[in-house]
Amino acid sequence: MPVSGLGPYDDQNVFARILRGEIPCQKIYEDEFALAFHDIAPQAPVHVLVIPKGRFVSFADFSAQAPAPLISGFFRAVGTVAREMGLDAEGYRLLANMGPLAGQEVPHFHVHIFAGKPLGRMLVASAGQ
Ligand code: 5GP
Repeated sequence: MPVSGLGPYDDQNVFARILRGEIPCQKIYEDEFALAFHDIAPQAPVHVLVIPKGRFVSFADFSAQAPAPLISGFFRAVGTVAREMGLDAEGYRLLANMGPLAGQEVPHFHVHIFAGKPLGRMLVASAGQ
């Protein structure tokens, strides 16, 4: 059973369809563990999504259930994407929404990479509440 409040993996979720090539994406990077592409509704000058090649609904599911080579390969791919995009010098933010309170919309684990402008401090909209 997946470890998540999101239910079982839905093979029709939009990122599963992108992985299968059924929906186009603006691809940045791909290897055996991960696919990276531009977010369709960018919230910063750089807004990239990195998704693992596997059926994991969330970070909770991925961290508990994914085989170690996929976990390490995925996170190495996130770093490779940032480095190859030239983001290391100025910096960037990683974000992974997990479940309803975080507002996770797509039930396939993904990491956001934000960059290209000062990103402020953490959770501005709901600070302290
Ligand atoms: P979440 O809220 O689940 O962490 O983020 C989901 C992200 O996926 C959102 O930033 C949204 O803009 C992005 N997204 C949703 N559908 C698509 C799509 O079809 N293509 C791409 N490239 N991004 C998408």
